[in-house]
Formats: sequence, structure tokens, C-alpha cells
Amino acid sequence: MAEKWRNWARQQTCTPARIERPASEEQLSEVVARAARDGLRIRPVGSGHSFTDTCLTDGVMVDQSRMQRVLDADPTTGLVTVEAGIKLHRLTAELHRHGLALENQGDIDTQSLAGALATATHGTGERFRNLSANVVACRLVTATGEVVEIDEARDPDAWRAARVSVGALGVISHYTLRCVPAFRIHRIDELRPAADVLADLDRLVAAHDHFELLALPHTDKVLTYASQRTDRPAAPPGRLTAWWNDDVLPNAGLGAACRFARLIPSAAPGVARAVAGLIGRYEQLDDSYRVYAHQRRVRFTEMEYAIPRAHAAEALERVRALVVDRRLPVLFPIEVRFTAPDDAFLSTAYGRDTAYIAVHQVAGAEYEAFFRAVEAIMDEYEGRPHWGKRHFQTAAALAPRYPGWQDFQAVRARLDPDGVFTNDYVARVLGPVPVSVPGGRP
Ligand SMILES: Cc1cc2nc3c(=O)[nH]c(=O)nc-3n(C[C@H](O)[C@H](O)[C@H](O)COP(=O)(O)OP(=O)(O)OC[C@H]3O[C@@H](n4cnc5c(N)ncnc54)[C@H](O)[C@@H]3O)c2cc1C
Repeated sequence: MAEKWRNWARQQTCTPARIERPASEEQLSEVVARAARDGLRIRPVGSGHSFTDTCLTDGVMVDQSRMQRVLDADPTTGLVTVEAGIKLHRLTAELHRHGLALENQGDIDTQSLAGALATATHGTGERFRNLSANVVACRLVTATGEVVEIDEARDPDAWRAARVSVGALGVISHYTLRCVPAFRIHRIDELRPAADVLADLDRLVAAHDHFELLALPHTDKVLTYASQRTDRPAAPPGRLTAWWNDDVLPNAGLGAACRFARLIPSAAPGVARAVAGLIGRYEQLDDSYRVYAHQRRVRFTEMEYAIPRAHAAEALERVRALVVDRRLPVLFPIEVRFTAPDDAFLSTAYGRDTAYIAVHQVAGAEYEAFFRAVEAIMDEYEGRPHWGKRHFQTAAALAPRYPGWQDFQAVRARLDPDGVFTNDYVARVLGPVPVSVPGGRP
């Protein structure tokens, strides 16, 4: 019987013709070539942590959870080659054993490396780029089963396309990443008046290696995460403190508050203020990968937009006002992060200092009206949606927001001329594969 697949948030499901689980690049190449011979489309899948329909297919789904090996790690150069299906938590633990670390991370580590890179997954810190910026080389299996080696020297356009590919070029089997010497982070979480933080935002972002804020809806408070890299010895928080701050509050506590607000939407503002009252100052000083990543057990859906950093405070104020004005029963914080610009054609931070603004809604609750209203605000700032998070854009709207759009399409036409890796999501957000012009743009 055909196997059913669903994503982490349990809101995207499909029944592929078959799900293949190759254990090596050789097997991957065989399953891809066989699918193409059978006339089936192919979709690579990681951990299914994207909120969109990006992984869905009725053709062949290629799951790389059996391809998680570290193939080479050189602590001197920092270059590490891995199989693309490796989960971030496994990768960061292995890197640590070699005295290495990822330069930056997002707030969970359960994604596969390939899935995280394909959607330009990012953390926060104005001096750091998203994860894909550290890809030095990769190996990509095209629809014929051929393995193409991609790096900047061999094929600079393919390298800038494959780092953030939305799975539209082929299945990446291996990555070589540039890693950094292992480091520790001292992070302080505290609740502050929103007005004070927003008035001082540029200084706060510049003063910290990693700065993030979570605006608590229906309150005048923001929770800030301010982190510095440090040589000081690790001093993890006590078990009870960690349990309360990392486990109870963001999981059971938030979950219970959301359930209550779903039952009685008009109570949301009061519940939000009560939750804010439970949040105290929290400090962590530990190896970077232990501080970055947290457990997320409340299922939710999310939209996140990348906008030019200069508009961050204004855009956030507009989203906060929207929630209050419409009396929306939203309890998840509005999350704001910052990254440096980079140059992958489809990177959401392409060519600009970027602020990311994310809104969430608990699984099962109405989210679309809220998200569409937020999207309308972000459109005014030429917002670029996170490729793995909800949005309602089409290729026509997105193309002008990416200076490297046509360059990406030229690489796509070259590597996947028959659109074997195009599913409904890819067709919607990137359009059909353009007809290629030899040696040029489509
Ligand atoms: C709780 C939670 C927290 C999150 N936190 C953050 C965060 O802090 N920062 C952030 O930026 N995002 C965050 N995200 C979003 C998440 O990082 C992205 O959606 C990411 O793509 C998920 O990785 P995955 O392995 O689950 O990939 P999937 O969702 O399975 O796949 C994502 C894309 O990658 C493609 N793909 C997978 N494998 C390959 C391959 N081998 N070759 C080519 N393409 C491939 C797929 O086709 C698909 O298009 C979060 C999501 C959740 C659910």
C-alpha cells in the first residue's frame, strides 16, 4: 500500500507513488534515474519542517534520512563534507567532536542540512549570513542520475543557485561546508518595554553578536535574546531553571494558553498579559550549538518575511497594531531577527542587510486572514517570504524582488530542463522551467 507522508506541523500531506530512502549517493542516483525513466516527478524531502506544500508530490519522494554521514572533517581548514540528509543536531554534535561549529544557527536543530539550506534557513546576528552562505561545494544528482560537482570555481552561477535551490534543481547528495572553531555563547533573555527596545534597536543589534526580539502580542513588552560569543567556561543553567524556561514556558505553558484562547478568543489579550507575567530573566552560557537550538513541541504554522533592515521597527509596530486593532486571538510572539546580506540568487537576504519578521498561529486555529494582512504590510517593503514558511506569493510577484532571479532560472533550465523537480509549489513560486538559451539567460 502507498505510504502517506505529512509534515511536522501536520498540515501538509501527500501520498507519493513511492518513497525512496537511498543510503548512498550511488543508490540516490539509481532511484532518481529510475523515477525519471518511469516518467515520475521527483521531490527531495528533509525533516518535513517546512510549513508550505514544498515537499508534496504524487511522484517519487526522496527521503535522505539514511544519508547522514560525516565524510570528512578538517579542523585546520574548517572544511567539512557531509551527506546532505544529516540532521543539524547530529551535524553540530559531530562538529563539536572535531573542535568545530556552524558559524550560526536557527532556533531548532531537527531539520536536515539539505532542507535547511534549500530554504535559506537563518539565525540572527547582523554580522552573520544565513546557513547557505557557508556552502563551499555540493554534489547534485540531476534527473538522469548524473552527479554534478558544483563549486564557485567550476560554475559560479550553479554554485549561487544550488546553495538555496528550493529543491528545484535536483537532489543534493553531499555538501562541503566552511565551519568555524567551536565557540561558546553567553545569552541573556529578558522582558523589556517594547518602546525602549525599538527606540534603541540599531544599537542593540550592533552591540550583540546575536540579537533577537519576540514581541508579545497584546502587551507593551518584548522578550529579547541578547548573545555574545565568549571564551568563558560553560556554566549551564540549573536543571529547574532550564526546565521552566526551555521546556515549560515555551511548550506546555504556551500550548495551554493557546488552547484557552481558542476556546475563548476574547480572552486572548488577558491570557497574553498573564503569560508575560511568568517570564523572568534567563541566562545560558554553553557551547554554541546547545544555546542556539531549543525544543518546540507546540505545533504551529508560521509566515516569515525578509525585509530591508532599515524598516524593521516600523514594520514590527504595524504588525503589533494589526493584532490589537483586529483583536486577533494570537498568543505566539512576533519574532524579529537580523542577518547580513549574501549572494545566493534565491537567498531571502540577497544583497541587503535584512530583518526577518515572523508571525505564528497555533495549529488548528484560523491563520489565513492574519497572515494575509501581515503579507500586505511586508509587500510594501519588498518583502521576500521564507521559502519554507507560509505565504501567498506567486513567481510573478517574487521575480522583481530578487535581482538574481533570471540567473537562477538559467541554471534551472540547464540542470532540470524537463522540470522533473517541479511540483505545484515550485511551479507557483518559481514558475515553469524556462526554455533555455544556449550560453545565456532564458
Ligand atoms: C519548529 C520550527 C522552527 C524553525 N526555525 C527556523 C529558524 O530558526 N530559522 C529559519 O530560517 N527557519 C526555521 N524553520 C523553517 C525550517 O528551517 C525550514 O522550513 C527548513 O527547510 C526545514 O528543513 P527540513 O529538513 O525539514 O526540510 P523540508 O521541509 O523537508 O524541505 C525543505 C525544502 O528542501 C528541499 N530539499 C530537501 N532535501 C533536499 C536535497 N537533498 N536536495 C535538494 N533539495 C532538498 C525540499 O524539496 C524542500 O523544498 C523552522 C521550522 C519549524 C517547524
